[in-house]
Amino acid sequence: LYRDQLIEQLGLTDVRTFKPAREDLAETDPAGMLWMSDTDACCHIRKVVPLARALTGFEAWISGRKRFQSKTRSALDAFEIDEGRVKVNPLADWTAADILDYAKTHELPTHPLVAQGYPSIGCMPCTSKVAPGEDPRAGRWRGQDKTECGIHWPIHGKEIDGSGI
Ligand code: SF4
Repeated sequence: LYRDQLIEQLGLTDVRTFKPAREDLAETDPAGMLWMSDTDACCHIRKVVPLARALTGFEAWISGRKRFQSKTRSALDAFEIDEGRVKVNPLADWTAADILDYAKTHELPTHPLVAQGYPSIGCMPCTSKVAPGEDPRAGRWRGQDKTECGIHWPIHGKEIDGSGI
């Protein structure tokens, strides 16, 4: 797995895995098909709630969002306050070329799906290939108004437009 490759190559020692709560899945999505009818609810139990558990006890966290990824991220600041926590976005002003250059310089592996046309990777049912010229995140929830899973609020306002990884 790409994740394991990164852990080994970077020598990471405190990688934590958070999953949806069994009771949330049993109550809200027992058939595992919620993504077909209500993607906001599906993302809520699978991403928003687990991340909230993961952040418990922390005063700050770091996201990898970049302004070039989508129109809804084009005004992203380097620092935000989110639910009383500082959120740091150190890559906010990086371009796609900056990322490739950095990865090359430091011999970091790129995600194997990027070369197959998936510049932004989410859950399998909600991620499609992106055509040349499209926003890198255009393949996420394609055909829906939703642009974020809900772990990041949109830049302006608190409404979920949708509010990702
Ligand atoms: S991205 Fe799709 S499958 Fe994944 S949690 Fe959200 S709605 Fe569910």
